[in-house]
Amino acid sequence: MTQQSAVVLLSGGQDSTTCLFWAKEQFGHIHAIAFDYGQRHRSELEAAREIAELARVKSFEVLELGVLAQLADSSLVSSSGKLSSSGGYQDAHVPDGLPTSFVPGRNLLFLGVAGAYAVKRDCHNIVIGVSQADYSGYPDCREEFITQMAKALVAAMPTSASPITIHAPMMHQSKQDEVWMAKDLGDDCWKALGLSVTCYQGKRPGCGKCPSCVLRQAGFKIAGLEDPAQGSS
Ligand SMILES: [Zn+2]
Repeated sequence: MTQQSAVVLLSGGQDSTTCLFWAKEQFGHIHAIAFDYGQRHRSELEAAREIAELARVKSFEVLELGVLAQLADSSLVSSSGKLSSSGGYQDAHVPDGLPTSFVPGRNLLFLGVAGAYAVKRDCHNIVIGVSQADYSGYPDCREEFITQMAKALVAAMPTSASPITIHAPMMHQSKQDEVWMAKDLGDDCWKALGLSVTCYQGKRPGCGKCPSCVLRQAGFKIAGLEDPAQGSS
């Protein structure tokens, strides 16, 4: 572990929770941030706060990004998203066959704000839990975007500061890889995973039917481990 510090984007979900504990092993101090962008379910932000406390981070802040709610027409933020009988979100207006859970510009905005926050905290590392292995083709979860964004942050931030590095440890991990990784990271990480909320309905444990719950369940099943969230309420 180095004494360098890192800003971790903590959504309260499975991926960012595991990333938080990965970051704890890599860096001396962790500043966790969560974004309030008008998510339909406040339980994610509450989970992020509980997980940050459990991880004993140096700081935890919720940053307001309400502009995303004004811009987005996503089932995660708007009240018009409909849950189909099959459990998947249907919306004929979403381009490129993306699910309506896609919020255009979300990670672009998140990483831009995280970069500014890192400069404020004199941090040179940002950790984000994006993965291109399992996600539904979200373009801002792909390695190409993260690489380009890392370059943009270096170009955008003050030259006197050391360059900021973006770490995306989940980028090439499958859901089952993530489960094994969380298990290896120890008891606190596993306990925190029990607090995480990934369900599109904001439930903990999840509804078991939405696409996010199905993905999470499949990961634990293939990994051969029980989801610690199943024991929570
Ligand atoms: Zn669910």
